[in-house]
Amino acid sequence: MLDFGVKREIFLDFSVGSKIAFYGLAAISICLFIFGIIQRIKKYRSGKDTKGISNIAVRFKDFLSLSLTNKTIIRDDLYSGISHLLIFWGFIILFAGTAIIFLNFDLLSLLNRAWNFWHGSFYLWFSLLLDLFGFAFFVGLLLMALRRAFLRPPCLDYRRVDTSPGTYSRRSYILGDWLFLGILLLIGVSGFFLEGLRIAMTRPPYSSWSFVGDSLAKLIIKMTGGKAPGVTFYKLIWWLHSLMSLAFIAYIPYSKAIHILTDPANFLLKEEVAGGVPPFAEDEVDLDKLGYMELKDFTWRELLSLDACTKCGRCHISCPAVISGSSLSPRDVILDLRDFINAKAKAFLLWDCQATSHEGEKLVGEVIKEETLWSCTTCLSCTEHCPVFVQHLPLLIKMRRHLIEGGFIDEGIQDALINISECGNSFGEP
Ligand code: SF4
Ligand code: SF4
Repeated sequence: MLDFGVKREIFLDFSVGSKIAFYGLAAISICLFIFGIIQRIKKYRSGKDTKGISNIAVRFKDFLSLSLTNKTIIRDDLYSGISHLLIFWGFIILFAGTAIIFLNFDLLSLLNRAWNFWHGSFYLWFSLLLDLFGFAFFVGLLLMALRRAFLRPPCLDYRRVDTSPGTYSRRSYILGDWLFLGILLLIGVSGFFLEGLRIAMTRPPYSSWSFVGDSLAKLIIKMTGGKAPGVTFYKLIWWLHSLMSLAFIAYIPYSKAIHILTDPANFLLKEEVAGGVPPFAEDEVDLDKLGYMELKDFTWRELLSLDACTKCGRCHISCPAVISGSSLSPRDVILDLRDFINAKAKAFLLWDCQATSHEGEKLVGEVIKEETLWSCTTCLSCTEHCPVFVQHLPLLIKMRRHLIEGGFIDEGIQDALINISECGNSFGEP
């Protein structure tokens, strides 16, 4: 089938002024996105350099298989894993669809009208695919929203284990989660509603290829008593959908949505630490300054991995220290570190962090308490359950090294360590 009549208008009855306004807002949104990404990269560059990245081919294979299958997310929790897979593939295909429309209308068709390929059978299959994956996207988001609102699994319980309720607030985390879900849901719903309105107004004979929009169009026609919806209402929804989509692009680097980029980046660049215990780096052998105590002690790859955390809580519920009621939660260690680093790097974020300046606070001993660090049994359960490969244990050990270097340890353990270094045994026997 090659029918040049089978197509649709992108700007249905829009004035030149409206089109200019749309492209102007799109440019602002992209600039804000790029600015936010530059801020993130600056933050990572303030970390230490690490050894070169080895096994590029294996890393790339892992990156592709982990990203495309979401298998580490499905592994421990089928419900959230499948929901995430639906959102992931829905997002990818909708994004690809938008990129194809941009390529066709804003590049190829401007260069040569004959290069317009968005019509006929290509357009019909394109419509079918986008409706299918758009619907998957919507279902995935709905399942995630139901999980947060009603199922409330223990892993999403943000209560701290190291302090009593009322002395802290997790409001910004909860707001950040709902804002992220809410914007995506609004984009999905308004997109389908817009499609339904367009089909109800233009009634193309091939509308069944857009099966979701077609069903909505029938509903709209029924509700309006057979009348076509007005073009003004259509334009209103068009602007709502477009503004939400542009706002989302601008919002990505400043929010939880950054995990769309940092998670795949962490799959590709994560540090491989044998057995979870980090060896001393060459520049760490200075005995006057062992371990981690401030922002510049972290490597850029560690800073990136902190931004990969989605607060899924799997490390939290699988940690024996949490289960035994100690003051350690690997999730909270990662979130506290991230908040501390964002405060020091003066990162601008929308709700997905605790708004505290950490002015004058020490990282080890104050932000991350000593008893928290000593509660870790080094079992590695947290790292094994983390779907995005955040490496908790090396960070905990490096902060412990700072405690040891500063002598902030139990006297008995201190004596044993001195005996080992001087006599080769913990009893101090010659
Ligand atoms: S390694 Fe430490 S933080 Fe991680 S699960 Fe085990 S005890 Fe918890
Ligand atoms: S560190 Fe990993 S497992 Fe823990 S909350 Fe973050 S993403 Fe989830």
